[in-house]
Amino acid sequence: MRRTAALLLVNIRQLLTLRSAADGPRRGASLSELGIIPDAAVLCLGGKIVSVGTTRDALRDPWLKKNRKKVIEIDCRGRVVLPGFVDSHTHPVFTHPRLVDFEQRISGASYEEIAEAGGGIRSSIDGVRKASKTTLTRKVSAALVDLARHGTTTVEAKSGYGLNLESELKSLEAIRAAAREWPGTVVPTFLGAHVVPPEYRGRSQEYVDLVCNEMMPAVAKRKLAQFVDVFCDRGAFRAGESARVFTAAEEHGLAVRAHMGQLSETRLGPLLRYRPASLDHMDRVNAADLPVLAQTDTVATFVPGANYFLGLTEYPNARRFIESGVAVALATDYNPGSSPTLSMPMAMSLACTHMKMSPAEAIAAATINGACALRLAGRKGSVEAGKDADLAVFDVGDYREIPYWFGANRCALTMVNGVPGGHIS
Ligand SMILES: [Zn+2]
Repeated sequence: MRRTAALLLVNIRQLLTLRSAADGPRRGASLSELGIIPDAAVLCLGGKIVSVGTTRDALRDPWLKKNRKKVIEIDCRGRVVLPGFVDSHTHPVFTHPRLVDFEQRISGASYEEIAEAGGGIRSSIDGVRKASKTTLTRKVSAALVDLARHGTTTVEAKSGYGLNLESELKSLEAIRAAAREWPGTVVPTFLGAHVVPPEYRGRSQEYVDLVCNEMMPAVAKRKLAQFVDVFCDRGAFRAGESARVFTAAEEHGLAVRAHMGQLSETRLGPLLRYRPASLDHMDRVNAADLPVLAQTDTVATFVPGANYFLGLTEYPNARRFIESGVAVALATDYNPGSSPTLSMPMAMSLACTHMKMSPAEAIAAATINGACALRLAGRKGSVEAGKDADLAVFDVGDYREIPYWFGANRCALTMVNGVPGGHIS
């Protein structure tokens, strides 16, 4: 279907607009404000939302009455409609599931034992290095289609399993090629500083030189990424090395984001100077850093799918972040090692049950605040006239059912940039 067609969604029991008078990410109490319109309708034209209101008003609208034949009407039959999810953290460029890790971890093997058995990140790196760009593009494309089936319309996609010049470029080119085939919005991120690859073991400084002096200029020149990410944690890169990566990103005009605090606590101050769009994971954070973080537009992005899949009992302390006024988002962290899920509703369900976020907070964190984490809030994350026509129709009568029915996909239809996909019955 062409995106120029006029589309009218009617008979929406609850339309979660997420509209707000204020700009910027939602914080504190405003994280719970969903801007619900009952018995609603949404008109989309040319890939944009044109008007939002009640079904009654829409059916009385003189323009709509006159152009009724040109408008494709979608009867939502009492379902819930919300902005398409913004998944602001995924690693979709990999070749195979990490089943050795999965099984060995269940039987209690250590990280080292898993690596010896042929699992671990090494197996993803080998897979990507050996794969053709076409194979990787196919994998990313399949993930994008599946994400949309679960209600996601905007996806941040990282490289990071190539870890040499050729394979990082190949990974980002695969993201670009897959993004061209998909009607949704893809934000590419260069994650050359994911881990120190095996051939640089014990020489992390030299690897950071390679990331900053060879990979990053090539990525910037080919315009393959909007963001640069770094894994700043125990076993990956220290704060000083991460700052070097951020400095190089700045020199190349690329915005930054980081993985922080998954395994160990790192003080945020030195990296906040670079105004990162988001700091992700945030399981371990120094309490004194929260009021500082709350004064910035940097979003703390939680990825509870990783905690769940690694069998952890601890989750990030979302309540403390929200009460401190930090802007928080939710993402899947889709990756083969620690979070093989494409489902934002699953991430939201985990946020509710394990992090004590309310269903309303989880929805705002998965939509408008995810858009802020990608600096796309002007176009994405809420249902308002002028924004991109990114909508998810859920086969439920109350929005709280979205995180409630965990493990089942209740998304009936996703509209991505005005293009409807999936079936509504
Ligand atoms: Zn990640």
